[in-house]
Amino acid sequence: MSTATINSWCLTSLSQAQSPQNKATLRPSISARLNSPASPAPPNLIQNKPVFAAPAPIITPTWREDMGNGSYDEAVEGLRKLLREKANLEPVAAAKIDQITAQLKSSDGSSSPFDPVERMKTGFIYFKKEKYDKNPALHAELAKGQSPKFMVFACSDSRVCPSHVLDFQPGDAFVVRNVANMVPAYDKIRYSGVGSAVEYAVLHLKVEHIVVIGHSSCGGIKGLMSFPFDGTSSTDFIEDWVKIGLPAKSKVVAECGDLPFPEQCAYCEKEAVNVSLGNLLSYPFVREGLVKKTLTLKGGYYDFVKGTFELWGLDFGLSPSFSVKDVATILHWKL
Ligand SMILES: [Zn+2]
Repeated sequence: MSTATINSWCLTSLSQAQSPQNKATLRPSISARLNSPASPAPPNLIQNKPVFAAPAPIITPTWREDMGNGSYDEAVEGLRKLLREKANLEPVAAAKIDQITAQLKSSDGSSSPFDPVERMKTGFIYFKKEKYDKNPALHAELAKGQSPKFMVFACSDSRVCPSHVLDFQPGDAFVVRNVANMVPAYDKIRYSGVGSAVEYAVLHLKVEHIVVIGHSSCGGIKGLMSFPFDGTSSTDFIEDWVKIGLPAKSKVVAECGDLPFPEQCAYCEKEAVNVSLGNLLSYPFVREGLVKKTLTLKGGYYDFVKGTFELWGLDFGLSPSFSVKDVATILHWKL
């Protein structure tokens, strides 16, 4: 398939995805660009060549002489050489070398600024060698399709990746990450992104557990607790998004309003998870899964300061308002 064909497909799909009112304004301009022989170049937003491509065999990084000299470069190259020569290094040793490489990269910004492409390339090479190539059976199976047991909502926060925190392997979890790990109530107009993910996970992937995971020191929850929501707005999107958790804020302010602000935020981080669990009950296919007992809902909380993880089940009642009646901690552990 040619690049032009790929780009045409992408843009055609994009235009088809627009709402009727948007279609009227967007499609003509896109079509004009695609069909005009005078402008064969793809739109700027379409990347038509890879930023990098991992070579095969994988551990053959190239090192250009013009990338710089000095002890930093020599140290990194030395580690690379060691990795090449010790192809069967134990994973722990290889990980250590990877860590040292990263530290060298970041320890002296003046001599070697952060190179995002190199960082991603190094990361992928490590993944390919240590994970992908060592699990051929798993990845052969995943090539046929996915059937994850979990759907996970987690915050976009860089410190709380659920695949790391819960050691999910490829194929284990269908993950949605957003600011403050919010699940909005069923809304086909405003929240089709979240809705489509829930629909796909429940109806097509047939996940068995939906887990909403909050976390300590969440900036989104701090925003929820800080914004006045009085009609004024200082952000383009954030306030409108995190106000999904307003019922949690109201409860925390009412019940813990005399506590120091950080403690209120900590309570809200968990209470907002319960609001999201309650909102999941507004999705008809989620309710159906719960009634048929093919689906469970769970709340989680990862405290990266204490190094703890809590998990609780939802004792729900399908009242007309789909309210969350009770939440019971069923499991708690600290490592
Ligand atoms: Zn967060």
